[in-house]
Amino acid sequence: MDWHRFLEEHNIPFVTRGPNTKRGEVSIHCPMCGDEDPSEHLGINVANDAWGCLRDASHRGKAARTLIKAILKCSSQQANSLVKQYSNSDPDTLDKALKYLQSDLLDGDVATKILQERLLDTYLEFNKIKARGVTKRFFNYLHNRGFDNPERLSEKYGLRCALTGRYKDRIIIPIYMNSELLGWTARAIGEVRQAPRYLMTSDEVKSTIFNYDNLKHGGKRLFIVEGPFDAIKLDNFKFNGNGVGYRATCTFGTSLTLSQLALLRSLIKRFESSWILFDRGAEGPARHLQDWLGQDAKVAEMPDGFKDPGEFDHDALLSLANEWYDGYQPLFRNPFKF
Ligand SMILES: [Zn+2]
Repeated sequence: MDWHRFLEEHNIPFVTRGPNTKRGEVSIHCPMCGDEDPSEHLGINVANDAWGCLRDASHRGKAARTLIKAILKCSSQQANSLVKQYSNSDPDTLDKALKYLQSDLLDGDVATKILQERLLDTYLEFNKIKARGVTKRFFNYLHNRGFDNPERLSEKYGLRCALTGRYKDRIIIPIYMNSELLGWTARAIGEVRQAPRYLMTSDEVKSTIFNYDNLKHGGKRLFIVEGPFDAIKLDNFKFNGNGVGYRATCTFGTSLTLSQLALLRSLIKRFESSWILFDRGAEGPARHLQDWLGQDAKVAEMPDGFKDPGEFDHDALLSLANEWYDGYQPLFRNPFKF
């Protein structure tokens, strides 16, 4: 199982090197020695889950479950479900798995390829979103967010949903760059406690911006927003009949990585106008981003009555083309004439 992630997520200190730690092992404070263990004397072999204490030879075992019980002082049942939870091939640990593979087994290119294939396989196992059957609640969620045709929307953006596992009850939004799947961010469709609304597969997602492949050839008007559903709301909108609309990307939050900044800088040069439209309350970060992007990008004001672009209704979306931007861009006085 994935000991690194388990220990990190349960705030259990561990070391991966030191006098008591063999290669391929992590060491923790021995829960059976308790206070008598002055440092980290219990080694865990991350490849086969075997564990043993250097202070007391009876503190040893081959089952992850037994050790988890001792560490967390939980029931066997709880320990079992944790073993299951941390044994899934989970792309969240992509970075770590990659490092492990690179250091011990394979050269980097091969390792990367294997992990990419695994990532794609995992994505393809998620369910498609349909109006009937087990995925109906995801369909309804999209419908309630104001999308008229959730099935077509899902096809267009590759949206899927998770019925079980780490991403259970979340909509999967895949992130591609140059046709290669980098990962996904998963939006909870219900209230979540002790978990973020969006869950990302890895930091890889933050190396790019949403929808990049569809935007890289440029266009009229680009919106840069915070979240993927904000971007989808704007990007999917078409003015009546003629198929013309805005394009939109998102930065997955208001703090950007350098590679996101570089992509945005080159992207805005290919649009006639670019607007940063962050959520209400994020005007500071929006201006900060504009400082980085320069005069080619402008900060748009969130119109009254809305917290974020994901809430926009049809009228609000229409108005984006003219009213709110009148004076800035007379080109858009008539939204139907591009
Ligand atoms: Zn011990």
